[in-house]
Amino acid sequence: MSYLQLEEEAPAVADDGVWLTCIECGAQFAPFDDIRYTCDDCDSLLEVRYADLPGFDAFEGEGVWRYDAALPFEEGVSLPEGHTPLHRVPRLEDEIGVNALRIKHEGMNPTGSFKDRGMTVGVRVAEELGVDRLACASTGNTSAALAAYGARAGLETLVLLPSGKVAAGKVAQASLHGARILEVDGNFDHCLDIVQDLAERGEAYLLNSLNPFRLEGQKTIGLEIMERFHADYGRFPDRIVLPVGNAGNTAALYKCFRELRQAGAIDADDVPKITGVQAEGAAPMVEAIEDDADEVRRWEEVETRATAIRIGNPVNAPKALPGIRETGGTAIAVSDEEITDAQRTLAGEGVGVEPASAASVAGLRKLRDEGVVSADEDVVCLTTGHLLKDPDAAAEAGADPEPVPNDTDAVLEHLDD
Ligand SMILES: *Cc1c(COP(=O)(O)O)cnc(C)c1O
Ligand SMILES: [Zn+2]
Repeated sequence: MSYLQLEEEAPAVADDGVWLTCIECGAQFAPFDDIRYTCDDCDSLLEVRYADLPGFDAFEGEGVWRYDAALPFEEGVSLPEGHTPLHRVPRLEDEIGVNALRIKHEGMNPTGSFKDRGMTVGVRVAEELGVDRLACASTGNTSAALAAYGARAGLETLVLLPSGKVAAGKVAQASLHGARILEVDGNFDHCLDIVQDLAERGEAYLLNSLNPFRLEGQKTIGLEIMERFHADYGRFPDRIVLPVGNAGNTAALYKCFRELRQAGAIDADDVPKITGVQAEGAAPMVEAIEDDADEVRRWEEVETRATAIRIGNPVNAPKALPGIRETGGTAIAVSDEEITDAQRTLAGEGVGVEPASAASVAGLRKLRDEGVVSADEDVVCLTTGHLLKDPDAAAEAGADPEPVPNDTDAVLEHLDD
């Protein structure tokens, strides 16, 4: 299992102790000499590797770049991102019935989703490589983040979106930050197929989570959770529950924990169980976990109200499946109704999230009901995007405004009804 083993000497191709390793065949590549997204030899996924892995005492400052000792650069194109809240939700903790429940609200990043953490690193790498056009396929949030970070860096950005399936807030962001928006008559997976072709033909630098540098930024979610939870409770969480689309975050969390172990910063039994949640209409990862399959079967037809995770071909599955399995986690599918219920419950504690984000809480609820999660567990749910990303879904889930006459007595009368 070469992928799980990090013990490596820096190879000759390393640049300042950083290099790329193929997770399948182990081939090693220089990180910044050429543009490559997958292995030259076998076309599998690449992973960023480091000669030195830091423990918690190496981190200082705030946000993603607090963790520069675990990243390929000391600073990036920053807005700044990270340092998101780990909310207490006492009523929800009580209702679900776990020892401790915290909500890591990634919707509090600059463009309203965790994608910013990946972009601050990814766009820094793009500068290093000297490219002039950035591109991504997106269910919405990646395009918003790419547009903002590209604008910040003064680079041209191109985004491919599935026509009619992207929440309004996200398109508005990509548009105002100056991305060129191409609406594809297909789903997200088709958009990614096309943008991968464009990248291969040298038309643009690809900043989807297939790009291993994106995941380096995203692993700082795990670092923040581990540090914050430990500061509050003197222990690490037993489980982290997150929504899964392309499975980049799942892979990034697992990489975070492998590196912390390698650094001697945590023990094997400190590693939280990575628990993925998908919508019933787009659940190829759940299927693979339930069938104990080595590979994920691509779903051609996908549908869910949680458009951010409306994905049938999770490209990071080869990194994410071992992450779920090796940590003792699991994966579960939830219905759109369960997602909306959880979105309302979170909103009832003041935490405003978009539908995909609420899938984590919906999944935890279900796993607790089924007895898979036990009452003595400490759990962190990841909420990946902000409520305002999808104003239509929020308005539909919430109560309707009540029309009243322009008159105080009439208003009082209405309130008494
Ligand atoms: C991108 C995204 C996801 C899916 O994350 P993956 O890393 O692709 O699994 C989930 N929720 C929101 C809000 C997102 O923007
Ligand atoms: Zn390879």
